[in-house]
Amino acid sequence: MKSIPLLDYVGTPLLTIAFLGLLLLQWRWPLRRQHFALVRRLIRNLILSIPSHVVLRWAMLPVPLAVAAWAQDLHIGLLNWVQIPKWLTVILTFLLMDYAYWWWHWANHRLPFFWRFHNVHHTDLDMDVSTATRFHFGEMIFSAGFLCLAAFLFGVHAMVLLGFFICFEGATLFHHSNWRLPIGLERLLNFVFVTPRMHGIHHSIVERETNSNWGTIFCWWDQLHRTVRRDIPQDEITIGVAPYRDEQELTVGHLLVLPFQRQRSWRLPNGEKPDRPAKSAPRLAD
Ligand SMILES: [Zn+2]
Repeated sequence: MKSIPLLDYVGTPLLTIAFLGLLLLQWRWPLRRQHFALVRRLIRNLILSIPSHVVLRWAMLPVPLAVAAWAQDLHIGLLNWVQIPKWLTVILTFLLMDYAYWWWHWANHRLPFFWRFHNVHHTDLDMDVSTATRFHFGEMIFSAGFLCLAAFLFGVHAMVLLGFFICFEGATLFHHSNWRLPIGLERLLNFVFVTPRMHGIHHSIVERETNSNWGTIFCWWDQLHRTVRRDIPQDEITIGVAPYRDEQELTVGHLLVLPFQRQRSWRLPNGEKPDRPAKSAPRLAD
């Protein structure tokens, strides 16, 4: 296997430290009360992440990096056509790629075929930093296609793409964590970034709330599209997908075949549709 030095010797160790650090922080200062057995969830999420990591390391990153290098050689793509300083290219890459990922996350929710795979991520019955690793490997394969297209169209430099991806993964770990930041600090961070309380609303069993807060690094894209929700206090959120509430059913084996089964409509097992009215909330609720 060809090594990717920036990923293998810098990115992976940094992300591993971030994962372990957040695990410790969320244990010491928990945000939402957890309702299901932690060790069982951790084991399931980590086993499910193994095939996803294999796809990530051997396809989802190497292929888009090769596409980016190829586009640069052929002088194709937006950022290869404009003459701007390097630092501005880096900033534009981060903004363009994070915005493109907003659309990709939108597609994963709104297009039924992609939702079949993304559903696996959302069926976690509590949310913490391990949820950030809970992706069906099928979703990672489609993400590779999305990344190739974005890298090609924007003419992203391969090393900047890799740097962005490491930050993107760090942001994903952070906003999935169950770490209770002081509310004042989180509100400050939430002027720029997607934070744990903001992403907690995205994992609610209320469908309207799940279909909000699609951002990954920056919170501005949801503001731009009026899909931002900040009004739900964390102790009022039930995490998960309404029709998938049975812990015994959500085994690794079942989660792997879930995308290929008939998808249930968004109702609780008792037939009720969870709902609550949206309130206007300029600031993030505690
Ligand atoms: Zn989602």
